Amino acid sequence: MERRSGSEGDKRIAKGAARRRRRRRNKRLGFLLVFSLLAFTAVGAFLSQEPKRQLARLERLERLRAEQSETSPGQKAEKLSRLDGLEFPQWIDVQLIEIDGASRRGERLEAVRDIVIHYVGNPETTAQQNRDYFNNPDSEVSAHFVVGIDGAVIQCVPLTEKSSASNDRNKDTISIEVCHPDESGKFTPETYDALIRLTAWLCKATGLNEKHVIRHYDVTGKNCPLYFVEHPEAWSLFRQDVKQAVKEL
Ligand SMILES: [Zn+2]
Repeated sequence: MERRSGSEGDKRIAKGAARRRRRRRNKRLGFLLVFSLLAFTAVGAFLSQEPKRQLARLERLERLRAEQSETSPGQKAEKLSRLDGLEFPQWIDVQLIEIDGASRRGERLEAVRDIVIHYVGNPETTAQQNRDYFNNPDSEVSAHFVVGIDGAVIQCVPLTEKSSASNDRNKDTISIEVCHPDESGKFTPETYDALIRLTAWLCKATGLNEKHVIRHYDVTGKNCPLYFVEHPEAWSLFRQDVKQAVKEL
Protein backbone atom coordinates (compact mmCIF):
# COMPACT_ATOMS: atom_id res chain seq x y z
CA MET A 1 0.00 0.00 0.00
CA GLU A 2 2.62 2.44 1.04
CA ARG A 3 4.63 1.70 -2.05
CA ARG A 4 1.54 2.06 -4.31
CA SER A 5 0.40 5.24 -2.66
CA GLY A 6 4.03 6.39 -2.78
CA SER A 7 4.23 5.67 -6.47
CA GLU A 8 0.86 7.39 -7.13
CA GLY A 9 2.18 10.44 -5.30
CA ASP A 10 5.30 10.32 -7.45
CA LYS A 11 3.14 10.13 -10.58
CA ARG A 12 1.12 13.19 -9.46
CA ILE A 13 4.29 15.11 -8.77
CA ALA A 14 5.71 14.06 -12.13
CA LYS A 15 2.44 15.09 -13.89
CA GLY A 16 2.47 18.46 -12.10
CA ALA A 17 6.11 19.03 -13.12
CA ALA A 18 5.33 18.12 -16.74
CA ARG A 19 2.35 20.54 -16.72
CA ARG A 20 4.55 23.34 -15.40
CA ARG A 21 7.18 22.55 -18.01
CA ARG A 22 4.50 22.69 -20.73
CA ARG A 23 3.19 25.99 -19.37
CA ARG A 24 6.69 27.44 -19.26
CA ARG A 25 7.35 26.21 -22.81
CA ASN A 26 4.06 27.64 -24.07
CA LYS A 27 4.85 30.95 -22.37
CA ARG A 28 8.31 31.02 -24.05
CA LEU A 29 6.72 30.19 -27.41
CA GLY A 30 4.16 32.97 -26.88
CA PHE A 31 6.90 35.49 -26.11
CA LEU A 32 8.86 34.33 -29.13
CA LEU A 33 5.80 34.72 -31.36
CA VAL A 34 4.98 38.23 -30.11
CA PHE A 35 8.62 39.27 -30.37
CA SER A 36 8.90 37.90 -33.93
CA LEU A 37 5.70 39.69 -34.94
CA LEU A 38 7.00 42.98 -33.51
CA ALA A 39 10.37 42.49 -35.21
CA PHE A 40 8.74 41.73 -38.59
CA THR A 41 6.50 44.79 -38.28
CA ALA A 42 9.46 47.02 -37.45
CA VAL A 43 11.57 45.69 -40.34
CA GLY A 44 8.58 46.01 -42.69
CA ALA A 45 8.00 49.61 -41.64
CA PHE A 46 11.71 50.41 -42.11
CA LEU A 47 11.82 48.82 -45.56
CA SER A 48 8.62 50.53 -46.72
CA GLN A 49 10.26 53.90 -45.90
CA GLU A 50 13.42 53.06 -47.85
CA PRO A 51 12.27 54.20 -51.32
CA LYS A 52 11.13 57.51 -49.79
CA ARG A 53 14.49 57.96 -48.13
CA GLN A 54 16.30 57.19 -51.38
CA LEU A 55 14.13 59.72 -53.21
CA ALA A 56 14.87 62.37 -50.59
CA ARG A 57 18.61 61.62 -50.90
CA LEU A 58 18.39 61.94 -54.71
CA GLU A 59 16.45 65.20 -54.45
CA ARG A 60 19.06 66.61 -52.06
CA LEU A 61 21.82 65.64 -54.53
CA GLU A 62 19.91 67.20 -57.47
CA ARG A 63 19.46 70.45 -55.52
CA LEU A 64 23.14 70.54 -54.67
CA ARG A 65 24.12 69.94 -58.29
CA ALA A 66 21.73 72.65 -59.53
CA GLU A 67 23.13 75.12 -57.00
CA GLN A 68 26.67 74.36 -58.08
CA SER A 69 25.96 74.71 -61.81
CA GLU A 70 23.93 77.90 -61.37
CA THR A 71 25.98 81.00 -62.03
CA SER A 72 25.75 83.39 -59.12
CA PRO A 73 24.13 86.81 -59.80
CA GLY A 74 27.55 88.41 -59.34
CA GLN A 75 29.10 86.19 -62.01
CA LYS A 76 26.23 86.91 -64.43
CA ALA A 77 26.68 90.64 -64.00
CA GLU A 78 30.42 90.25 -64.45
CA LYS A 79 29.95 88.29 -67.70
CA LEU A 80 27.52 90.82 -69.19
CA SER A 81 29.63 93.84 -68.25
CA ARG A 82 32.58 92.09 -69.89
CA LEU A 83 30.52 92.11 -73.12
CA ASP A 84 29.76 95.85 -72.79
CA GLY A 85 33.30 96.92 -73.45
CA LEU A 86 34.13 94.14 -75.91
CA GLU A 87 36.19 94.97 -78.98
CA PHE A 88 34.77 93.55 -82.20
CA PRO A 89 36.91 92.05 -84.93
CA GLN A 90 36.87 93.78 -88.31
CA TRP A 91 35.07 90.94 -90.08
CA ILE A 92 31.90 91.73 -88.12
CA ASP A 93 29.85 94.37 -89.94
CA VAL A 94 27.91 96.22 -87.23
CA GLN A 95 24.51 97.42 -88.52
CA LEU A 96 22.28 97.62 -85.45
CA ILE A 97 18.55 97.65 -86.19
CA GLU A 98 16.17 100.28 -84.75
CA ILE A 99 14.58 99.73 -81.35
CA ASP A 100 10.92 99.17 -82.34
CA GLY A 101 9.54 97.30 -79.32
CA ALA A 102 9.20 93.98 -81.18
CA SER A 103 12.20 93.02 -83.35
CA ARG A 104 14.47 94.89 -80.99
CA ARG A 105 13.01 95.76 -77.61
CA GLY A 106 16.08 97.33 -76.08
CA GLU A 107 15.90 94.94 -73.12
CA ARG A 108 19.09 93.82 -71.41
CA LEU A 109 19.89 90.11 -71.41
CA GLU A 110 19.57 88.43 -68.01
CA ALA A 111 22.68 86.33 -68.68
CA VAL A 112 24.41 84.56 -71.55
CA ARG A 113 24.03 80.81 -71.05
CA ASP A 114 23.92 79.47 -74.62
CA ILE A 115 24.49 80.44 -78.25
CA VAL A 116 21.56 79.43 -80.50
CA ILE A 117 22.05 78.61 -84.20
CA HIS A 118 19.18 79.16 -86.69
CA TYR A 119 18.73 79.00 -90.45
CA VAL A 120 16.77 81.75 -92.20
CA GLY A 121 14.50 79.27 -94.00
CA ASN A 122 14.42 81.54 -97.04
CA PRO A 123 16.84 80.15 -99.68
CA GLU A 124 19.18 82.49 -101.56
CA THR A 125 18.48 85.55 -99.39
CA THR A 126 21.56 87.53 -98.38
CA ALA A 127 22.72 88.55 -94.91
CA GLN A 128 21.88 92.17 -95.78
CA GLN A 129 18.32 91.30 -96.87
CA ASN A 130 17.72 89.38 -93.65
CA ARG A 131 19.17 92.20 -91.53
CA ASP A 132 16.91 94.71 -93.33
CA TYR A 133 13.93 92.42 -92.81
CA PHE A 134 14.64 92.42 -89.04
CA ASN A 135 14.78 96.22 -89.18
CA ASN A 136 11.20 96.29 -90.50
CA PRO A 137 8.88 96.89 -87.49
CA ASP A 138 6.37 94.35 -88.91
CA SER A 139 8.84 91.46 -88.86
CA GLU A 140 8.89 91.13 -85.05
CA VAL A 141 11.98 88.91 -85.32
CA SER A 142 15.70 89.51 -85.07
CA ALA A 143 18.98 87.80 -84.30
CA HIS A 144 22.19 89.16 -82.87
CA PHE A 145 24.02 88.08 -86.05
CA VAL A 146 23.30 86.99 -89.62
CA VAL A 147 25.85 84.94 -91.56
CA GLY A 148 25.54 85.24 -95.37
CA ILE A 149 25.91 82.72 -98.20
CA ASP A 150 29.25 84.39 -99.05
CA GLY A 151 30.40 84.29 -95.40
CA ALA A 152 29.59 87.92 -94.56
CA VAL A 153 28.74 88.51 -90.87
CA ILE A 154 26.33 91.31 -89.90
CA GLN A 155 25.53 92.23 -86.31
CA CYS A 156 21.94 93.45 -85.80
CA VAL A 157 21.46 93.58 -82.00
CA PRO A 158 24.00 94.52 -79.28
CA LEU A 159 25.48 91.51 -77.45
CA THR A 160 24.05 92.56 -74.08
CA GLU A 161 20.48 92.97 -75.41
CA LYS A 162 17.76 90.39 -76.04
CA SER A 163 17.09 89.41 -79.66
CA SER A 164 13.75 88.02 -80.88
CA ALA A 165 14.73 84.61 -82.23
CA SER A 166 14.71 81.82 -79.65
CA ASN A 167 11.33 82.03 -77.90
CA ASP A 168 11.60 81.79 -74.11
CA ARG A 169 15.39 81.60 -74.35
CA ASN A 170 15.68 85.12 -75.77
CA LYS A 171 16.39 86.20 -72.21
CA ASP A 172 19.69 84.34 -71.82
CA THR A 173 21.05 83.43 -75.26
CA ILE A 174 22.89 84.95 -78.20
CA SER A 175 21.31 84.09 -81.56
CA ILE A 176 22.83 83.57 -85.01
CA GLU A 177 20.68 83.32 -88.18
CA VAL A 178 22.41 81.60 -91.08
CA CYS A 179 21.64 81.99 -94.82
CA HIS A 180 21.62 79.04 -97.24
CA PRO A 181 21.38 78.57 -101.01
CA ASP A 182 18.57 75.98 -101.19
CA GLU A 183 15.69 74.23 -99.42
CA SER A 184 17.96 71.56 -97.86
CA GLY A 185 19.26 74.25 -95.53
CA LYS A 186 22.86 73.08 -96.05
CA PHE A 187 25.40 75.87 -95.61
CA THR A 188 28.03 76.78 -98.23
CA PRO A 189 31.68 76.19 -97.24
CA GLU A 190 32.09 80.01 -96.93
CA THR A 191 29.08 80.23 -94.61
CA TYR A 192 30.24 77.24 -92.56
CA ASP A 193 33.71 78.70 -92.01
CA ALA A 194 32.34 82.13 -91.11
CA LEU A 195 29.85 80.53 -88.70
CA ILE A 196 32.64 78.56 -86.99
CA ARG A 197 34.76 81.70 -86.68
CA LEU A 198 31.86 83.75 -85.25
CA THR A 199 30.67 81.03 -82.84
CA ALA A 200 34.20 80.37 -81.56
CA TRP A 201 34.79 84.10 -81.06
CA LEU A 202 31.50 84.35 -79.13
CA CYS A 203 32.43 81.33 -76.99
CA LYS A 204 35.68 82.99 -76.08
CA ALA A 205 34.02 86.37 -75.40
CA THR A 206 31.28 84.91 -73.20
CA GLY A 207 33.36 82.23 -71.48
CA LEU A 208 31.19 79.43 -72.88
CA ASN A 209 32.31 76.22 -74.62
CA GLU A 210 30.95 74.21 -77.57
CA LYS A 211 28.52 72.34 -75.30
CA HIS A 212 26.67 75.65 -74.95
CA VAL A 213 26.21 75.95 -78.71
CA ILE A 214 22.68 74.71 -79.34
CA ARG A 215 20.10 74.55 -82.14
CA HIS A 216 16.76 76.37 -82.17
CA TYR A 217 15.48 72.77 -82.34
CA ASP A 218 16.92 72.14 -78.85
CA VAL A 219 14.80 75.00 -77.48
CA THR A 220 11.41 74.39 -79.11
CA GLY A 221 11.69 71.25 -81.26
CA LYS A 222 11.33 73.40 -84.40
CA ASN A 223 13.17 72.07 -87.50
CA CYS A 224 15.76 74.82 -87.29
CA PRO A 225 18.50 74.86 -88.48
CA LEU A 226 17.00 72.25 -90.82
CA TYR A 227 20.21 70.62 -92.09
CA PHE A 228 21.64 70.23 -88.56
CA VAL A 229 18.33 68.75 -87.33
CA GLU A 230 18.14 66.22 -90.18
CA HIS A 231 21.88 65.41 -89.95
CA PRO A 232 22.81 65.03 -86.28
CA GLU A 233 26.30 63.79 -87.28
CA ALA A 234 26.91 67.07 -89.14
CA TRP A 235 25.75 68.93 -86.04
CA SER A 236 28.18 67.11 -83.73
CA LEU A 237 30.98 67.69 -86.26
CA PHE A 238 30.10 71.40 -86.26
CA ARG A 239 30.40 71.52 -82.47
CA GLN A 240 33.76 69.72 -82.65
CA ASP A 241 34.93 72.28 -85.22
CA VAL A 242 33.87 75.09 -82.88
CA LYS A 243 35.80 73.45 -80.03
CA GLN A 244 38.91 73.26 -82.18
CA ALA A 245 38.51 76.88 -83.35
CA VAL A 246 38.17 78.09 -79.75
CA LYS A 247 41.47 76.33 -78.91
CA GLU A 248 43.19 78.10 -81.78
CA LEU A 249 42.01 81.58 -80.75
ZN1 LIG B 1 15.27 79.24 -85.69
